[in-house]
Amino acid sequence: MKDFKQIQKWLAEADAVIVTAGNGFAQMEGLDMFEDAAFPIEYQAVSKKYHVKTIADALDKNFDSWDEKWQFWSQLINEYSVEYEPSKAMKQLKELLNGKNYFIATSAFGHFFETAGFEQEKIFDVFGDWTRMQCSSGLNHGTYSDLSVVKRYINGQGEIPRCEDCDSPMEIHMPLNAHFFPDEDANTRFRWFLTRNQTKKVVVLELGVDPTSPQLLDPMVKLVEQFKDWHYVAADLSQDELPDNIQKRSAGLGMALPEVIEKISKNEG
Ligand SMILES: [Zn+2]
Repeated sequence: MKDFKQIQKWLAEADAVIVTAGNGFAQMEGLDMFEDAAFPIEYQAVSKKYHVKTIADALDKNFDSWDEKWQFWSQLINEYSVEYEPSKAMKQLKELLNGKNYFIATSAFGHFFETAGFEQEKIFDVFGDWTRMQCSSGLNHGTYSDLSVVKRYINGQGEIPRCEDCDSPMEIHMPLNAHFFPDEDANTRFRWFLTRNQTKKVVVLELGVDPTSPQLLDPMVKLVEQFKDWHYVAADLSQDELPDNIQKRSAGLGMALPEVIEKISKNEG
């Protein structure tokens, strides 16, 4: 069902809106982990030395030294997050959610929603946030902003950051190894948000979620199946990919994100 008036009505009447934003959303905001045309040129040294063609491949590689890692991470974080400017669609989404009771669960780790001005306590960065760093020891010694580290590396004065508790090197806060600690506070806030709104009118808005973040897809569809006043609006799925029992209260749009956000935002007509 591509009835945008109906979707606008669901949104207008919703007590709460849950946005799930995945890899496609990150791409819209300029960060394409799997794009292999520009990477070997922009990140030539890393690409040649480690035989990698994409950001995703490079993040998976274990570099020879912490200094190399931070050099590389800093270049990425600077390009995609420090210099990030929200897209038009991102601004429209912000407008759409303005004044609404919302929560954002995202696998996009580039700090996009925070930079775009969404409220920090309404965001759960499921795959972490690479503008923050964690201890590499395997123990949970908290997370800290890494932006000053990034800045020093970009200015050619980089120094490997070390854990305040155990002096181990710090690493970016992403699930790159077995000891990634998700943001438990944000996770708890998200769980509470879901619980509090079970019997309310809720719209789940899926934006750019694909198999690279399955935890944002099936579990959300299951919740919509479970709670009768919830709606599912999926940018990436077609209507026939949605379960039979939620057909009438869901919309599988199968459209590009900027177009989806534009159409569900429009007030006129
Ligand atoms: Zn530590």
